[in-house]
Amino acid sequence: MSLIVQKYGGTSVGNIERIRNVARRVARTANEGHEVVVVLSAMSGETNRLVALTLEANEFPIGREYDLVISTGEQVTIGLMALCLQEMGMKAKGFLGHQVAIITDSQFGSARIESIETERLVAELKSGVIAVVAGFQGVDAGGDITTLGRGGSDTTAVALAAALKADLCEIYTDVEGIYTTDPNICADARKLKKVSYDEMLEMASLGAKVLQTRSVEFAKKYEVPVLVRSSFSDAGGTLVCKEDKDMEKVVVSGITYNKDEAKISIIRVPDRPGIAVKVFRPLSEAAINVDMIVQNISHDAHTDLTFTVSKSDYKKAMKIIKEVAAVIEAKDVIGDTSIAKVSIVGAGMRSHAGIASKTFDVLAKEGINIQMISTSEIKISVVVDVKYTELAVRVLHEAFGLGKDEVVEEKG
Ligand code: ADP
Ligand code: ASP
Ligand code: MG
Repeated sequence: MSLIVQKYGGTSVGNIERIRNVARRVARTANEGHEVVVVLSAMSGETNRLVALTLEANEFPIGREYDLVISTGEQVTIGLMALCLQEMGMKAKGFLGHQVAIITDSQFGSARIESIETERLVAELKSGVIAVVAGFQGVDAGGDITTLGRGGSDTTAVALAAALKADLCEIYTDVEGIYTTDPNICADARKLKKVSYDEMLEMASLGAKVLQTRSVEFAKKYEVPVLVRSSFSDAGGTLVCKEDKDMEKVVVSGITYNKDEAKISIIRVPDRPGIAVKVFRPLSEAAINVDMIVQNISHDAHTDLTFTVSKSDYKKAMKIIKEVAAVIEAKDVIGDTSIAKVSIVGAGMRSHAGIASKTFDVLAKEGINIQMISTSEIKISVVVDVKYTELAVRVLHEAFGLGKDEVVEEKG
């Protein structure tokens, strides 16, 4: 007998029929003799709807009440799932984050899990109960409900798997695993059998939303084997696990894109020491993460400074930066929300030259203008106009030989 955590995403629990299908799969696992913890998302579209409502109520809603509202979608699905399982004759109970004591910090909207008190869950599992836990939510030291950032149910599942020392964490979604790029925009995308924690971490943080980045951090830290697969088929999925020798052979392992960022440019900033801190400190004090930063060379002691933030922070960031610009006597602030970041990811890039120039060449041939560039040891990211996202992904995917028909070593 093993302990298995199964997480089902929004599309998999999008209506009662789908919830019942998932319940059958859960019951089958339990009837095979396993202890099962089920983690659920809200029905697809529900969290977006709730976020939109909070924005109607308040221009800057993020805080205690925001989490109170946007965490409710999961309460509905866990209740319905437990009811379906009970109707099938199974012992099942739904639990909210605070009931299984998923303790987080108090960063509303993007809280981090600090600890999980597993006694209650362990006792329920021992008595033969299938525990159906609300994903995406926790509780802080003050007893207030928190949420873990969009896509956070993945993190709930992996964190529970780590805390319970589960044998496996299965992430059921609407695609059959992790692919070389998003299979919904590139028909040629190839499913990977295995992917290392590090590469998945990079892919997730660069936009492959199939797993929330923090869930991969947890998986890596506690060495939780994570199997990503579809709730709509029985196809074998992708195992996210420790790197093995075969994995290093691939130079480029995937192409990702992120449409959730916006670009802010401050024009004619005085070029002198201390300016960067004046610009970026107020943003960090407002808990706004800055991603890429580009500063131009200086002309007559002035320069332009461009950076990206997540779209959800854009309005707040613009407000702060306009105030800063007035103080430092910059000429103007220009915002642009129609951008996308496209990235080429691969551990093998460490030891291969020419990836950057090939990327720029491929994009130039398609007439795609590159607005910003950033590189690390194992990735190259470019910011382009959002309308070129799909095209850029497809041509890069093909140029780096990642497609189905290419003779590239299968990972794993
Ligand atoms: P869920 O609601 O199940 O959590 P998500 O929408 O969060 O599902 O994540 C699954 C989606 O991730 C897929 O439908 C796919 O469009 C997208 N995706 C992006 N990049 C990849 C990738 N490399 N491999 C698989 N799916 C990806
Ligand atoms: N329902 C939440 C969201 O849409 C959490 C999740 O789906 O993982 O972000
Ligand atoms: Mg998700």
